[in-house]
Formats: sequence, C-alpha cells, structure tokens
Amino acid sequence: MKPRDRLRIAVQKSGRLSDASQDLLSRCGLRFRHSRDKLFCFGESLAIDLLLVRDDDIPGLIADGVCDLGIVGRNVLAEQECAAQLRGETPAFEELRSLGFGRCRLSIALPQELDYDGASSLDGLRIATTYPALTTQWLKSEGVDAKVVVLSGSVEIAPKLGTADAICDLVSTGATLQANQLREAIGILESEAVLAGSTTAPKGERGELMELLLRRIEGVIQVRE
Ligand code: ATP
Ligand code: ZN
Repeated sequence: MKPRDRLRIAVQKSGRLSDASQDLLSRCGLRFRHSRDKLFCFGESLAIDLLLVRDDDIPGLIADGVCDLGIVGRNVLAEQECAAQLRGETPAFEELRSLGFGRCRLSIALPQELDYDGASSLDGLRIATTYPALTTQWLKSEGVDAKVVVLSGSVEIAPKLGTADAICDLVSTGATLQANQLREAIGILESEAVLAGSTTAPKGERGELMELLLRRIEGVIQVRE
C-alpha cells in the first residue's frame, strides 16, 4: 500500500453510534469537508480524514491498514477478535479506550415461559445470534452443550418463528425483548463505544497526529465525566 501521511479514522455512517462519534471528533477540534458521496471526508483543521462505513467493517479496515483508528461498539470488536482466535489467528486491532456512549450488553434471553436457573438451563437449546463467536465461547466456558444458530438480523423473532429456542443479542432498555415476550437471562458482555486501533501504532507524522488526537479525546472525556 502507498505510504500515507494523513491519519484516517473510521466511524459508523448511519446508526446508533454515528452522531455521538462525529460529535466527539468535532469536540476534539476536527473539521471535515464532506464529499458528495459522504464516504470519505477530508480533514480541514488537521491532517486527519474521516471514513464513514458500516460498523462491522471497522475492525477489518484497521487490520488491513486502510484506517488507523475507528469508533465502534466493543461488541463488534470483541466478536471479530473472538472469531479470529477461534480460527487460530491473532487479531491486528485492539481496544485503545472506552468512550462512554452507546452502552448496552450482549445477553442471553429466553421466552417468558422458559425458566432460567443458571447456565445449565440452556443445555440442549438452539440459541439464535448475530454474535456466534462470543456466544460459542461463553457457552464453552460455562460447559453448556447448546446449538448456536447464526442469523444476520431480526434475532428477537427467532423463538416465535421456531428457528431457535433462545437468543443472544444486544440489550439496552429491554423494550425489544419485552415486545417479543422474551426475558433477559444473563449478560455475557458489557459494551459501549470504544476507540479501536492497530496493534502496531503508526510511526512518524501519523504517529504524532494519533498521539495528539488521543490526548484531545482524553481531555473531552474528562470534561464530560
Ligand atoms: P450498520 O449499518 O453500521 O452495520 P448496525 O445495524 O450493525 O449498523 P446499530 O444498530 O446502529 O448497528 O448499532 C451500533 C452499535 O450501537 C451496536 O454495535 C452497539 O455497540 C450499540 N448499541 C447500543 N445500544 C444498542 C441496542 N439497544 N441495540 C443494538 N445496538 C446497540
Ligand atoms: Zn453492523
């Protein structure tokens, strides 16, 4: 890849983390010229450019060196890290700092009529999720023999459709679970938005820009706390 002097940060294009991510960067003094397609935004105040992408793409963009930093839910980072480990690989991205917004948890939920009395209650069940690596790892660590059913979305209706007995999904208020007659049984991961970066930090000018941005983020978060 061509060497690059400017730092690149990826954030979610549109979704739950978009506004707070862009707000954080703007509080750090970053200003961007929005391009027409709005995927790539040129940084005007500093040599830091913005990439607007799907949250799931952020760890890969960092691992491939396309971006230096990203703002993404710990749940996404942890799932891709866990999936890499299950393949026997070492992920090239890591969590650098938690950011204090986008809080939620990855939880196992059961239909209201099913009792939960510890992890062994899940033995023999089919559990639908979009987080197969984290779910598989947790079940294994608890010694539970359950089947993980991988879905790409609408996990909460799987029990009603009969494609699974239980689910493992993100929960914040619990309203979605309640609307689908599901009850949270146990949380397996506490999540919030985090700053992610490469396991090998950039050197030279980009390295200095990254240090500067990290210091500014630190300052903005301390003022908020
Ligand atoms: P994309 O189109 O970028 O793939 P998405 O549908 O995967 O978007 P969103 O629903 O916008 O993602 O959620 C982004 C992140 O917001 C989640 O990965 C999670 O970290 C956080 N989040 C906070 N609360 C919730 C919640 N109740 N449900 C889902 N995600 C939540
Ligand atoms: Zn996504």
